[in-house]
Amino acid sequence: MFDLSAFRTENPSLTLSLVSKCFDDLCCHSQTDNQTTSMYVARSVAQDVLNKHGVRAEKLLDACTVNGDVLYSPTLVALLQAAASGEKKVFALIIVDVQNDFITGSLAVSEGEMVVPVINEMGPHFTHIYKTADWHPTDHISFHSNVKKCIHATSARSNVKGADSEMFQTVVVCGPPELKQTLWPDHCIQGSFGAEFHKDLKTFPNEVRVNKGMKTTVDSYSGFWDNGDTSHTPLYNMLLNNGVTDVVVCGIATDFCVGFTALDAARHGFRTVVVNEAIRGVMPDTSAGMVARCKAAGVEFVSSASIPDLVKEKDVSGAVDRIFKVKKHFTVVDINANQQYTPPVN
Ligand SMILES: [Zn+2]
Repeated sequence: MFDLSAFRTENPSLTLSLVSKCFDDLCCHSQTDNQTTSMYVARSVAQDVLNKHGVRAEKLLDACTVNGDVLYSPTLVALLQAAASGEKKVFALIIVDVQNDFITGSLAVSEGEMVVPVINEMGPHFTHIYKTADWHPTDHISFHSNVKKCIHATSARSNVKGADSEMFQTVVVCGPPELKQTLWPDHCIQGSFGAEFHKDLKTFPNEVRVNKGMKTTVDSYSGFWDNGDTSHTPLYNMLLNNGVTDVVVCGIATDFCVGFTALDAARHGFRTVVVNEAIRGVMPDTSAGMVARCKAAGVEFVSSASIPDLVKEKDVSGAVDRIFKVKKHFTVVDINANQQYTPPVN
């Protein structure tokens, strides 16, 4: 019916598309064949995906959503409940770029230092902590100084040529890869004071540092992937190896590195939570735009006060109810009887 060995791929987006395919297959199968076979196959898919790839029950349900309708059947709910009850939650804190240049230096954001005490208080609640650091070579492509001097060429597609460019403008660089690039002041140069973490940010005994933005020709806002998705940091594999299911993201800046890190975390199948008081942005309008984009991708925004209870949350047996609560505007169709299903009201 389908090849489970294909799930062993390292590529998480491929994994999800395969899950989706499998469920399309399962739904057709349920309609025409006997339930026992379908259920057996579905359980093995769920267990394989959850065990090997940390994909959450919500993702399985997403895979069963077609044109806004959840293909509902008792078999599917049983499967999701089984998957959710067997799921162990492991939280990680990702602290994005709390570095001097973003707080007091060349690219200081308003109230940047305000994130530090909030993060210091949250840290001890986490077993797994990752601190990302923007870590640029001097000839980095994101520096306006380099593009202005044509150290990096702008593409024929770029409306603004390098020599005519202004600070904070967006150009199209040749790369590789050819990408839009916002031009920033020199910042977070490897080994400089500006690249150091803020002096008041606690060093946690269990923290792991993740450098990013080290390639000359491509910028990296996300702690996972560069802006062209051409290279990745070790972050995803470290999360996976530690069995992490839920990530909490904080740091600087909301509209760039925090936002893209959260989007990538969600894209990789982690439940992703951003802490409102522990982020600051470069500009209010782009920050608001990024928050909206993250919410549309399923990222949750919470208060720092909710973190201690959140990380204690181990019982996920209510996952299916939560899923239906989130998706209650959907029409849910029983694929066997074509009956209307009313989601639980809370
Ligand atoms: Zn940078």
